[in-house]
Amino acid sequence: MDLFKKNWFTESSDMWPGGTFSFEVKEVLHSEKSEFQDILVLDTTTFGRVLVLDGIVQCSQKDEFSYQEMISFLPLFCHKNPEKVLIVGGGDGGVAREVAKHPQVKQIVQVEIDAKVIDVSKKYLPFMAVGFESEKLKLHVGDGFEFMKNHSNEFDVIITDSSDPVGPAVNLFQENYFALMKSALRPGGIVCSQAGTIWNDLDMVTSTLKFCRNQFPAAAYAIASVPTYPSGQIGFVIGSLDKDIKFDTPQMKLSSEDEKKMNLRYYNSDIHKAAFVLPTFVKSHLA
Ligand code: SAM
Repeated sequence: MDLFKKNWFTESSDMWPGGTFSFEVKEVLHSEKSEFQDILVLDTTTFGRVLVLDGIVQCSQKDEFSYQEMISFLPLFCHKNPEKVLIVGGGDGGVAREVAKHPQVKQIVQVEIDAKVIDVSKKYLPFMAVGFESEKLKLHVGDGFEFMKNHSNEFDVIITDSSDPVGPAVNLFQENYFALMKSALRPGGIVCSQAGTIWNDLDMVTSTLKFCRNQFPAAAYAIASVPTYPSGQIGFVIGSLDKDIKFDTPQMKLSSEDEKKMNLRYYNSDIHKAAFVLPTFVKSHLA
């Protein structure tokens, strides 16, 4: 048996030593070095198109909907009236695609640091980059951390769809970023950030949640299944200015008709509730 096959891409990062995910590659569609990071787009045999930044998988065509729907709809359905939403990162367009579907959202502002990621996604990942076509969206190219310093009392929900805490994203995982987001929110506002996995990054999950708890009167960690992320799981840190919020109780219960209308494939009102139920070892670590 040939266990060392050719034409396989293996994810590489010091963050997850000793074990990682591989894809069988049909074709390398794009490879370049931008001002901020190495950008790679693969066409794979089983997971469709895959975006890789600095050697780390960002999304695959097969399972991206799980991540995009959960990071968008957990905070949006926790909010009573999320009219104005800020997305930080999200250069593939998938989160904008989902946020635009929410019936109460009127305006979306997005700040992505790397214009090249946006261009490459428009060319090779149109199923996500369709999000950039929304009339609700105003897209800026710039650093989300710097952007946040110049905005106060403006957004109902801030979604940080960031790459992992290396390179340009390091600042988005610091406590002062949570403090800046807090000032950028309107009363009752909610933040939701990509925050790593319970299997590989529990210390990172713990510190991100701690920063959020230090700044917000209510905070929680929620989980989703995404096979192509390390360990097949990803999580989100959510914070709210409303101390009495019940994160596991969505403000609007979706019918199966609503789910169809919004073309939801992962998120539903039951999975919203379930996302906040954590395994025992995680509960005690995060307590
Ligand atoms: N779903 C993905 C994940 O969990 O790995 C993230 C996808 S999205 C492609 C991440 C984006 O964050 C990248 O396009 C990257 O350029 C952007 N980004 C990283 N640091 C940033 C910053 N400081 N400000 C704005 N965007 C940033």
